[in-house]
Amino acid sequence: MSSTIVALATPPGAGGIAVVRLSGPESYEVCEKVFRPINPDKKVADAKGYTALFGHFIAGGKTLDEGVVLFFRAPHSYTGEDAVELSCHGGMVIAQSLIEACIEAGAEPAGPGEYTKRAFLNGRIGLTQAEAVMDVIGAAGRQGAALAQQALSGALAEKIETWRAALVKLAGHLAAWVDFPEEDVPELEDDALLAELGRIEGEIEELIQNYEAGAVLRQGVDTAIVGSPNVGKSTLLNLLAGFDRAIVTPVAGTTRDVVEQAVMLGGVRLNLFDTAGLRETEDIVEAEGIRRSRQKLAEAGLVLAVFDGSCTLLEQDRELAESCKGRPAIALVNKSDLDRRFDLDAVRDCFDAVLPISAANGEGLEGLAEEVRRVLRVAQVDPNAPGLMNRRQLAAAVRAKSAIKEGREALLGGFGLDAVSVCVDDALLALSQLTGVDASESVVEEVFSTFCVGK
Ligand code: GDP
Repeated sequence: MSSTIVALATPPGAGGIAVVRLSGPESYEVCEKVFRPINPDKKVADAKGYTALFGHFIAGGKTLDEGVVLFFRAPHSYTGEDAVELSCHGGMVIAQSLIEACIEAGAEPAGPGEYTKRAFLNGRIGLTQAEAVMDVIGAAGRQGAALAQQALSGALAEKIETWRAALVKLAGHLAAWVDFPEEDVPELEDDALLAELGRIEGEIEELIQNYEAGAVLRQGVDTAIVGSPNVGKSTLLNLLAGFDRAIVTPVAGTTRDVVEQAVMLGGVRLNLFDTAGLRETEDIVEAEGIRRSRQKLAEAGLVLAVFDGSCTLLEQDRELAESCKGRPAIALVNKSDLDRRFDLDAVRDCFDAVLPISAANGEGLEGLAEEVRRVLRVAQVDPNAPGLMNRRQLAAAVRAKSAIKEGREALLGGFGLDAVSVCVDDALLALSQLTGVDASESVVEEVFSTFCVGK
C-alpha cells in the first residue's frame, strides 16, 4: 500500500472544527507543503507521533486558515501507517480547499472506508471489528451503540477464535487418525467428539438466534401503523413523533400517503409508516395509498394495529386482525378516554399483545414501549455479549454451524472419521471467512464499499 490518501474525517457542513486526515508513507511530506508551524524552529518532518503543532494552512501560496496538526507515526495510528490530522475551521470552503491543497501536494482522494480498510489490511483490526466501525457510527439508539462498541472491541473476534482453536485441535486429531491409522494416535472417543461439536454448534446457534434482535437495536425496525379511517392512527403517530407530522382531521380517508417518521420508543428506533386506511374505495389516489400501505404492512418488522375502542368491532377490523396473525403485531385499542364498546378478547388470539391506549392524551404509551421491547425480543439482548453485526457475518456463522451439524450427523450415522474431518474443515473455513482471516478480496471490497469516505 504505497499511496498517501486524504479525506475529510468530520461530517461536511458548518461546524466549529473540520478534520482533514492524511494517511500513508508521504503524509508528512504532504503536510509540510500545506502547513507552516508558527514556531519557525519546529519542523513537520521531525514531529514525533502523538504530538501537535499550531500553525497556518497554505493553499496556492496563500494562507488559508490557522489550525492544529496532530501527528501519528506508523504503526501507532488508526491505519497502522504514518498519519496526520489537520484541524481547520469548520465549514466546507476551508476544509475543501485544504483537501485540494493536499491533493496538489501529492495525496490521493481516499475511497469509501479506505482508512479502516488499511487498518484491516495492516492487521490493526479484524474484519468483524472493521464492520463494527460503521455500526458504531450508524447506531440508532444507545443499546445498539453498546452492541456495536463491544464488537469493535474485538469481543466477537475473540469468541470466534476460541471456536476456531477448539476445531483446529479436533481437526488435527482427526487428520492424524485418518492419515496414520497404523500409528499410535489415540482414537477420539465418539462421545467426547460429539459433545465438543455439540457445544460449539450450540454456542454458534445462540449467536445466530440473537442476530435479529441485535439488528433491531442497531438499525431500528420498520413499523406499520394500520387501521380503519378515523381510529386515531395519525394522532398516534403525532404522539410518538412529538409534533404534527401528519394532518389530523375528523374526515375519513385523509391520510392518503405513507408517512415516514423515525421515533425512539423503549430504546428501540421505530421507523413508522402511517398508512392510508385499509378500506375499499373508488378514489384513485386513495386506492394507490391503500396499495402502498398493504405492501408496507407485508414488509414491516412490527405492526401496530389501531382500533377505535369507542366503537364495536366491525368486519373490516376483524379482517385486519386476521391479517396480523403470525406477525409481530400489537393491537392498540384507542380512545380509552371514551366509554369502551370494543371487545378486547375478540382480537386477542391474532396479536402478541392487546393494549388500551389514548393517543389523544398519551395514556398507555409506557405499556406500549414495554410491549414493543418484549415482542421484538430485545429485552433479553445483552449488549455486553458478543453478537453478529450484519448479513455477511450471519451467513458465515450459519455455514459454520451447518458444517458442524453435518459432522455430528456423519458421526452418529457411522460414516467414519474422515467424513467428520471434512465437515470440521468446512466449519473452520467458514469461521476464517467470518473473521476475515480467509476472506476473499471480493468480500473485503464488498465490506468497505458500504463505508463513507473519510472513515
Ligand atoms: P386516522 O384516520 O386513523 O389517522 O385518525 P385520526 O388520527 O385522524 O383521528 C380521527 C379522530 O379521532 C380525530 O378527531 C382525533 O382527534 C380523534 N382521536 C384520536 N385519538 C383519540 C383518543 O385517544 N381519544 C379521543 N377521544 N379521540 C381521539
